[in-house]
Amino acid sequence: MFDSLTDRLSEAFRNLRGQARLDEKNIQDGLREVRMALLEADVNFKVVKDFVDRVKEKALGADVLKSLTPGQQVVKIVHDELVELLGGEQTGLCLKHKPVTIMMVGLQGSGKTTTASKLANLLRAKHKMKPYLVPADVYRPAAIEQLHVLARQLDVPAYPSTTDMNPVDICADALKKAAEAGCDAVLFDTAGRLHVDEPLMEELSAIKARCNPAEILFVADAMTGQDAVTVAEAFDKRLGISGVVLTKMDGDARGGAALSIKSVTGKPLKFVGVGEKLSDLEPFHPDRAAQRILGMGDVMTLIEKAQDTMEAAEAEKLAAKMQQAKFDLEDFLTQMRRMRKIGSLESILKLIPGMGGMMKKLGDVQVPEKEIDRAEAIINSMTKKERREPSIINASRRERIAKGCGRTVADVNALIKNFEQMNKMMQKILGGGGAPKMPKMPR
Ligand code: GDP
Repeated sequence: MFDSLTDRLSEAFRNLRGQARLDEKNIQDGLREVRMALLEADVNFKVVKDFVDRVKEKALGADVLKSLTPGQQVVKIVHDELVELLGGEQTGLCLKHKPVTIMMVGLQGSGKTTTASKLANLLRAKHKMKPYLVPADVYRPAAIEQLHVLARQLDVPAYPSTTDMNPVDICADALKKAAEAGCDAVLFDTAGRLHVDEPLMEELSAIKARCNPAEILFVADAMTGQDAVTVAEAFDKRLGISGVVLTKMDGDARGGAALSIKSVTGKPLKFVGVGEKLSDLEPFHPDRAAQRILGMGDVMTLIEKAQDTMEAAEAEKLAAKMQQAKFDLEDFLTQMRRMRKIGSLESILKLIPGMGGMMKKLGDVQVPEKEIDRAEAIINSMTKKERREPSIINASRRERIAKGCGRTVADVNALIKNFEQMNKMMQKILGGGGAPKMPKMPR
């Protein structure tokens, strides 16, 4: 997400950092590069112009902080303006009136069906709501089946739509069925076309008129850049959307759509899709995104992701186990699986301040996902007793474990050695009393 923009901007700022003070000339030079970086990121031309004008005006103004160096001053101004450009405050869903009705609209292949399911998952996990999924695309038989498969995966009820039904009737009847099932969030997955077309708009307007949804979320593929923005405008004009979801942000290094959508349509970006899994949907926070763009990491999102997968009580229990040297291979395996749920190691590292840039400097380092796979296979091949009491794992047990998972005895030895070293280190850190000191981030 935003990777190439981050690289280009950091180059622009590096040149400014060397300056003793800001003047019209060096600001002009620095901003020319910022402008190029934004245009290369496929941000709307007019949006870029306004943005650069505002930054220039502020940078030349008298209200710059004395405690900052010129480079830092410009970074701060750009940061504040980026937050504004991305929408200012975070905008959540309107969940006031139950049942909450959410209508997903957008072109074919934009990610509507996936996002409807991801949202159902999120509403249940974060808001303790009972979602109900409604397939209202009767033109593609596969679309109905696709949503039913996802609903079963989530164990969420779905309306039994068939291709001979009328989409408006489906949505209206689904509201009744959802109420009967005790559900308080109803998500309509509507039909998409390859282009904006009038019959589709009429159908969507009819659903809106009949069901009066609290939210009409326009879903677009972030990788289509400015096209996504243009189509959003068309849907908004015809339907009056309440917000935008950009999907496939995991594959979009430029970010042009995210940076232009609020300025052009006036409608907030509410969520971003960051992967194909049903947990890969994040509420969009303009301030955190601005920090990510400027290479400052996104610690808040990282903490939230970790919290989502671990209850506080569980975290405490784990800490106590570590402190009493009772952390065993079973816990080790649980932690590894949890890592996997949070995301790939690479995506986690990118959220840590300074790490994004550092990973670049190291070149194309492969984050050892494979190591986790290997460790998991080895631990899976151990008995429960061996996981709880690693000290009993003698030579013959090592041989059996290696055979069981198709690895060598040396692999098993290496894993046990790593585990013991980690355990020792934890003892040193936690046993000494007091909170462990965080290492300083390299600059
Ligand atoms: P629809 O035609 O609008 O309903 O689109 P789908 O929900 O069927 O999505 C089209 C494709 O995009 C599917 O293969 C999805 O798995 C994929 N997809 C959706 N959202 C994301 C996302 O955030 N990241 C990635 N990588 N793929 C996504």
